[in-house]
Amino acid sequence: MKDTYRRNINYLRISVTDLCNLRCKYCMPEAGVEKIQHGDVLSIEEIITIAKESAALGIRKVRITGGEPLVRKGIIDLVEGISGIEGIEDVAMTTNGLLLKKYGKDLKKAGLNRVNISIDSLDPDKYRKITRGGEVQQVLEGIEEALTLGLVPVKLNTVIVGGENEEDILKLMNLTKIYPIDVRFIELMPIGQASSWSKEHFISNEEVRSRVPELLPLNQEIGSPAKYFKLPEAKGRVGFIDPISSHFCGECNRLRVTFDGKLKPCLHSSQEIDLLPALRNNEGSLKKLLTEAIVSKPEKHYLDTEEYEIITRNMSQIGG
Ligand code: SAM
Ligand code: SF4
Repeated sequence: MKDTYRRNINYLRISVTDLCNLRCKYCMPEAGVEKIQHGDVLSIEEIITIAKESAALGIRKVRITGGEPLVRKGIIDLVEGISGIEGIEDVAMTTNGLLLKKYGKDLKKAGLNRVNISIDSLDPDKYRKITRGGEVQQVLEGIEEALTLGLVPVKLNTVIVGGENEEDILKLMNLTKIYPIDVRFIELMPIGQASSWSKEHFISNEEVRSRVPELLPLNQEIGSPAKYFKLPEAKGRVGFIDPISSHFCGECNRLRVTFDGKLKPCLHSSQEIDLLPALRNNEGSLKKLLTEAIVSKPEKHYLDTEEYEIITRNMSQIGG
């Protein structure tokens, strides 16, 4: 379905939990998020119902995210349910990769097409520090498992935080020489945990790029928010996603659903449409609410303008 600005809204990102087995500094409080009542979280069946209604309105691609989707009970059934919906052509997942070795085979069998894996450092100590306790070796094993199983294309997501992992820029890019993967740098966003300090630690992607002059520009993919480059002799690509310095709102084709059943037409707006009354009490129709979200999707975000309202939810609660 087209929105008011003639963008074709065909991509749904669903956060299936706000819980996580890591505590990345820019995403989660050290003590974790406050546990909300079990009943306030969307059930697996409710998520499938939302995906079905969305497919009827033109959603073709679904990304399952979180929190960490692989800690959600019933995740395999969820992937199977979504991949079986008529009209859904692509089911992807964003994960920290820690549990991919354990669940990769079942996910593939259930219909998952591909994974994006987040990794901000290859140095075990630094990775432990950024994630507050993670073991990077487990992520590397997860990456290899995804490649072996054909959960491809495998894309790695990296956030560079000034003063924390700048020395990892080239090391992470060099993974594209070893594996046929894309390593994508995503600018730090002033959301939730990071909203009070992200400005002082922000490193633009232009800056990241300028530190690796050997990167060669590639033709841009239509509809992709990433600009791609390549290192000489590499098997994979290096991508840059600049939500802050050059936003891609004009091509934004996505809607988001939070783990607690709120539809977000825009990541950087606090506008939320509650789906629970329609899902649970037959108050209003889901189709009408989804249509409302598409129609009310803002033309662009207002980060760095006076109209901007700080987003207090963490990325783990919205679904990054
Ligand atoms: N747990 C999974 C993971 O880490 O891939 C999925 C959810 S996580 C919220 C999705 C992505 O959001 C990760 O790549 C993470 O780096 C990114 N993210 C979280 N907070 C962010 C922030 N403040 N700015 C930029 N990216 C952020
Ligand atoms: Fe967890 Fe992903 Fe947030 Fe890190 S970025 S705390 S792995 S949800």
